[in-house]
Amino acid sequence: MASLFAKPITELKGVGKKRAELYQKLGAPTVGALLRLYPRAYEDWSSPCTVLQAPHDTACAVRATVERVSAPVFTRSGVMLIHVQTADAEGTPLELVFFNNSYIQNLLSSGTCYIFYGKVTINQGKQQMASPIFAKEGQCPGLRPIYPQTKGLPSRTIAAAVQEALQLLPDAMQDPIPQEIRQRYSLCELRYALETIHQPENQESMEVARARLAFEELLVLQLGLLTMKSRTREKSAFVVQKSYLEEFWKLLPFTPTGAQRHAAEEAVQDMQSGWPMNRLIQGDVGSGKTAVAAACCHTVIRSGMQAVLMAPTDILAHQHFASLSAMLQPAGISVGLLTGSLKPKEKAAVKADIADGTLQLLVGTHALLTPDVVFQNLGLVITDEQHRFGVNQRTALAEKSKGTHVLVMSATPIPRTLALMIYGDLDISVIDELPPGRQEIQTFCIDSSKRMRALRFVKKHVHAGRQAYIICPAIDAGNDKASVTQYAQNLQRALPDCRIGALHGRMKPKEKDEIMEHFSGGKIDILVSTTVVEVGVDVPNAVDMLIENAEQYGLSQLHQLRGRVGRGSCQSYCILISDAQNEEARARMQVMCETADGFAIAERDLKLRGPGDFFGSRQHGLPELKIADLNDDFSVLQNAQTVAKEMLAADPPLEAPDHRGLRAEVRLLFQNLGET
Ligand code: ADP
Ligand code: MG
Repeated sequence: MASLFAKPITELKGVGKKRAELYQKLGAPTVGALLRLYPRAYEDWSSPCTVLQAPHDTACAVRATVERVSAPVFTRSGVMLIHVQTADAEGTPLELVFFNNSYIQNLLSSGTCYIFYGKVTINQGKQQMASPIFAKEGQCPGLRPIYPQTKGLPSRTIAAAVQEALQLLPDAMQDPIPQEIRQRYSLCELRYALETIHQPENQESMEVARARLAFEELLVLQLGLLTMKSRTREKSAFVVQKSYLEEFWKLLPFTPTGAQRHAAEEAVQDMQSGWPMNRLIQGDVGSGKTAVAAACCHTVIRSGMQAVLMAPTDILAHQHFASLSAMLQPAGISVGLLTGSLKPKEKAAVKADIADGTLQLLVGTHALLTPDVVFQNLGLVITDEQHRFGVNQRTALAEKSKGTHVLVMSATPIPRTLALMIYGDLDISVIDELPPGRQEIQTFCIDSSKRMRALRFVKKHVHAGRQAYIICPAIDAGNDKASVTQYAQNLQRALPDCRIGALHGRMKPKEKDEIMEHFSGGKIDILVSTTVVEVGVDVPNAVDMLIENAEQYGLSQLHQLRGRVGRGSCQSYCILISDAQNEEARARMQVMCETADGFAIAERDLKLRGPGDFFGSRQHGLPELKIADLNDDFSVLQNAQTVAKEMLAADPPLEAPDHRGLRAEVRLLFQNLGET
């Protein structure tokens, strides 16, 4: 099978350079990839219905006998119409209409029974089907595949190419899933699965094929993920001898919540175990993850090792640097900052201090990943807001040193299914408690006619000494979307006594830092910004989050943005401004107004968007799933994970003859991600 991935698609008949590009667009540049381009749906010809049973608005197969093919008539605009009278077994008439197709007279003969596939509509009391496709009874395709299409490449053409590709499967094909596993989970063979998924006889056989392919997909993915992790697992870890948590909590200006204590204790226990820690801390926005990260760094550093914390944006790295310094410097811990925006000289100095151990804690962005960042004795790697990083980036940091502990923090609450999928064998701590004194953020959705009222509301808070964010989707003026620069100017004119700042991703890192510093220092009252402030930013005095064109954003993103306020003890507000009428956008706003719980929102998000998008490879750096469905295939996922663990325990490099097929599939899947 793997060898077919080396065969370019142009080896198929009728696929030239031009068409190959279209296949490439669908993700099928090779014959092998084409076989893995599964139908997205099927036309079901396997159980035709009667005329009266036919559903409205969806195409279906109807069994009927031709009674009369009438002579062609022409409409005034010159279209040739041929009407065909048929009736089903119950005698219900069905009229077929064909356009500009004189061959029909030769193809359909009176008195013969056919299966017609199309949409049954009612036209002046008559049941009709326009331009159905059809086949003689007994010569029907069963389920006819419908492929993901692109312009210039219709499903039928793809189906024909797939049929040709199936012929190229080698006679003696090795099944990548060992026989014993197939038997254990009642899975069919690969050849049968491929032939059937592309050309099933009926629903049942399609399901059998799908089950096998979904299992295989999840197994390969799990093997890949576990292999990446085991690189850190194999090595014995640096052992933390004792917990310094009590000492650390005293350094804080507040009392930690029970959930913060618990999460930190779990992490420290991991680091005392002798095995490398591999833990995810999930906590809703504002739950106080930074303090937990700081607690872990503190214990590691007091135990004589270095720690590093990686954040996804410059802004966040600066903020963490400031707050970690404030917490840890009083304990005599030296903290450094490394981002892409430092001058080469400054960078070199930080790197030297990290290499010789002068610095004990390093905070930074992905600039930390360059090979010339070398630690003297790295004990702990923390990634904040990890969903912003690809899998590769996460592991790259952990590999800087042997036996390091890994802690990842995420505010994107991930439903259990997805967590298991993405993190495999990661241990999970949940911070399910907010610091005391927080009031629930009030959320409103308004249309733009009420914008002025909302701004007066914000102004009132500014006069009371509070601050606000206003989020705009665009940077420059020019389209119909609110733009940061224009908006900030207009706002300054409308509210002359408020200090207004503008922030967006195209500004130089230095400028961004300055603006953020002014905002957190209270020198800016209202910050007009793009979504660069989406994750992590913490200015507790800000109480209003006003989001323009709110329909632009997904639920999780809206929740993140809203999480920028409500971080102090004042009542905070989130105001969504949108004129969108479409139902899906309205549904999202509704959810936002109804619930503040990040986990509930994530579940709704998953439902509204479907796992494909939620789990898009861009977000997590993982390959997209082609056939497995995380909503339905949870038990399949668990089985695949069990098998993957067993296999890797017995044969970590997957070298056994029985495992080589899978190893090839793992390589194929991850090669696009730059993994070997
Ligand atoms: P997130 O989980 O979103 O990363 P942060 O770590 O940024 O949250 O914390 C949010 C705010 O809550 C910060 O201003 C922090 O100082 C404050 N905070 C954290 N823990 C507590 C606590 N136990 N009591 C009071 N305030 C806290
Ligand atoms: Mg945070």
